[in-house]
Amino acid sequence: MEQNLPVVVIGAGPVGLAAAAQLLTRGLTPLVLERGAGVGASLRDWAHVRVFTPWRYNVDAAARDLLTEGGWQEPDPEALPDGAALVRDYLEPLARLPALAPHVRCQAEVLAVSRLGFDKLTSTGRENAPFLVRWRGPDGNEEQVVARAIIDASGNWRQPNPMGVDGLPVPGEAEAADHIAYGIPDVVGTERSNYEGRRILVVGSGHSAINVVLDLLRLKDEAPTTRVFWALRRSGLAKIVGGGADDRLAERGALGLAARRAIDEGRLELLVPFAAERISRHEDALQVAARLAGNSVTLDVDRIVVATGFRPDLTLFRELRVALDPIVEAPPALAPLIDPNLHSCGTVPPHGAAELAHPESGFYIVGSKSYGRAPTFLMMTGYEQVRSVAAAIAGDHAAARDVRLVLPETGICSTSIREEETSAAACCAPARQPEPAMPTSSCCGARA
Ligand SMILES: Cc1cc2nc3c(=O)[nH]c(=O)nc-3n(C[C@H](O)[C@H](O)[C@H](O)COP(=O)(O)OP(=O)(O)OC[C@H]3O[C@@H](n4cnc5c(N)ncnc54)[C@H](O)[C@@H]3O)c2cc1C
Repeated sequence: MEQNLPVVVIGAGPVGLAAAAQLLTRGLTPLVLERGAGVGASLRDWAHVRVFTPWRYNVDAAARDLLTEGGWQEPDPEALPDGAALVRDYLEPLARLPALAPHVRCQAEVLAVSRLGFDKLTSTGRENAPFLVRWRGPDGNEEQVVARAIIDASGNWRQPNPMGVDGLPVPGEAEAADHIAYGIPDVVGTERSNYEGRRILVVGSGHSAINVVLDLLRLKDEAPTTRVFWALRRSGLAKIVGGGADDRLAERGALGLAARRAIDEGRLELLVPFAAERISRHEDALQVAARLAGNSVTLDVDRIVVATGFRPDLTLFRELRVALDPIVEAPPALAPLIDPNLHSCGTVPPHGAAELAHPESGFYIVGSKSYGRAPTFLMMTGYEQVRSVAAAIAGDHAAARDVRLVLPETGICSTSIREEETSAAACCAPARQPEPAMPTSSCCGARA
């Protein structure tokens, strides 16, 4: 295969741009295709949300080197940025660097990836064929480009899970779409008029749901007629508070504790276990028929916020030979380490090109998308993934194999590694064993 073809990176989020920086450091040519009007398009949607990892864990090492050469003033390493700051103070300056800018195209939505001249079924000679990437440009026209390798860093943000407990949309959910928000709407800011003084049902039990609920309670302080219903589809109270005071990420633990306080003070109406069965429109409001703790109920609300997680878009690589775990929809070697059925902590050993490989050589899914449906991804994990993947594409297999995430003294659950803590890893891999064996990590601070 021609060595001077670009490596196409799908998506200019934190991990896609880190991949570009890592590729440049290796003397390879990236071509980052980003569907949004600017870099960090997902983060712009949750611009108002403060992350729970401080700056020092949110910046990729190769990106930091490039930025520093360009005179970048690194933000306070201990400060906690929100989504807007991550874009403004990190991703945008990175994408503007003369070294990177020529390699990043926005308003370039990748539609499909295949192998030039080879459909999925055709084998002979396949390994030597470059990839073909079909994308849509700003003028709406379809374009294509040929690539030596593909790094899919397109995230999961655009594929939110629906409201139904069975993973399907509840009947009526699509018809009520203009009254439903998915993810973390800015209920006290830009979206305030939709929520102030209204009856709002929040569905979900993760940190995104907690974020929305706490914001709604702030709104209620200012507009006391606002009513907040919080529906948990399965879990009990323990999951809501997550690690609480024990959470090694203090900011995340604080979220859990604040949610717990609100429940104890009766400032919100908790519905658990809750299974929506049908949504009907009633003039400008919604009626939700549901099973609540085994009983049939109907709930009248004005808006619904669905914060039930995300799932990867598998259509992009329909023509490629991609192996995914049937449960988690992550690469098979990674899935057992992040399967929420097995772990609540989300701790994952460092991993790289070997664990992210697919039958289609030269194709890698990285970043939050590499975790499939598992909700525990952290940026630092993605940065190590793309360091290893860039090394593998460059042919530096020793560096690709040498995966590590050195975050001394932090104890951050899902990304820390200290060799001496190897034995603790046993608590994180109780049933499904990864293949091939990977280095182990410290593990299992409790968290939801
Ligand atoms: C509210 C919230 C808080 C979080 N807090 C933390 C935290 O504290 N610490 C932490 O480490 N992690 C945190 N995460 C998790 C994770 O780090 C982020 O989700 C991060 O944005 C993942 O980066 P990514 O590059 O993998 O994906 P994304 O940021 O989602 O980037 C994907 C990019 O691909 C683009 N794209 C999608 N489809 C296409 C296509 N077909 N063609 C071209 N481009 C496409 C998108 O527009 C987007 O720009 C948080 C996540 C959320 C949602």
